[in-house]
Amino acid sequence: MPVTRLQGIGPTIFSTMSALAARTGSVNLGQGFPDADGPASLIEAAQRALAEGANQYAPGIGVPPLREAIARHQQRHYGIELDPERQVCVTAGCTEAVAGALLGLVEPGDEVVVLEPYYDSYVAVLQMAGAVRRPVTLRAPGYRLDPDELRAAVTDRTRFVLLNSPHNPTGTVLTDAELQAVADVAIEHDLVVITDEVYEHLVFDAHEHRPISTLEGMAERTLTLSSAGKSYSVTGWKIGWATGPAHLVAAVLDAKQWLSFSNGTPLQHAVAHALDHEPDWPRELARSLQGRRDLLCSGLDDLGLSPRVPEGTYFAMTDVAHLGWEDGLEFCEALPARAGVVAIPAQGFHDSDAGRHLVRWAFCKEPDVVEDGLRRLREAVLEK
Ligand code: GLN
Repeated sequence: MPVTRLQGIGPTIFSTMSALAARTGSVNLGQGFPDADGPASLIEAAQRALAEGANQYAPGIGVPPLREAIARHQQRHYGIELDPERQVCVTAGCTEAVAGALLGLVEPGDEVVVLEPYYDSYVAVLQMAGAVRRPVTLRAPGYRLDPDELRAAVTDRTRFVLLNSPHNPTGTVLTDAELQAVADVAIEHDLVVITDEVYEHLVFDAHEHRPISTLEGMAERTLTLSSAGKSYSVTGWKIGWATGPAHLVAAVLDAKQWLSFSNGTPLQHAVAHALDHEPDWPRELARSLQGRRDLLCSGLDDLGLSPRVPEGTYFAMTDVAHLGWEDGLEFCEALPARAGVVAIPAQGFHDSDAGRHLVRWAFCKEPDVVEDGLRRLREAVLEK
């Protein structure tokens, strides 16, 4: 039996489903990691850093070249000015940035408004922090943020909004109007916004990602989290960061120094190199992902599994109820035997039952892998 603060929190569904894929030889359209590496110059920069002796602890806050490169990245893409000494902290992936932010800022009993469906680590760390979660649901089929529901979720005990855009798992990229609604509520109720923007560069068609910190009155109350994992296809490197006002960044450092302390010194140097020398690589990745999104979505469409065509991220959501599956978890558990494919049930990302029959499919895999998954699905009986 785990300690109270971990009770009710099972193993992460991503590990469970990847293990299921490996065990059954299934095509893994579940956990969101690409099966092709990031840019060669990034890998070479890591090899150089290893050979040149960058192999001891980095400072807890991150190596200076990476903090400086992150500040330049925020300036180049969004016009955000940051002091790399005080307003940037490097973390072990965005997951540790989320943990550091919540453990470093949230008092037991504080209410945190969070978009539902939510990434599973948010729930775990909110519970460890003793926070009370106040979900606001992005509902199928459009998955838009309803400003009235947002307002209704805020009480006088609410102190934070935990935002995620581009949004995993729905693929929603919050519009300017939706971001403004969040900003209005945050300013009116004096809330801090913690925003996970790991898919910042992975947006499609005419959709644009706008950091909420760039809205009027938000820079001083927004802690922005991101990482190199998704932007540069190195999810295993676990190099993430938190940026924003010095007092919020300091709180992340206060907590994270007791978690990982620091991580991946040579990889930090390599990511610094990529941020400066491969600034367009993530957008190229987005272009290629868009093709794979279309491939997956049209394939799912042909199968009668009409997906929500995502505006960003790696993921497409489908509703499996009309195939007779009231329960997406049951569908996903049956899928390896029926089709040799793994997907992620979305119900675990909800407090409400809004996600009961929703299933997430990842398209960050090579086109032939996506094709293989679709071929297997076409040959299988998907009706319950
Ligand atoms: N972000 C990845 C996803 O949503 C999973 C990362 C993880 O397994 N921790 O699939």
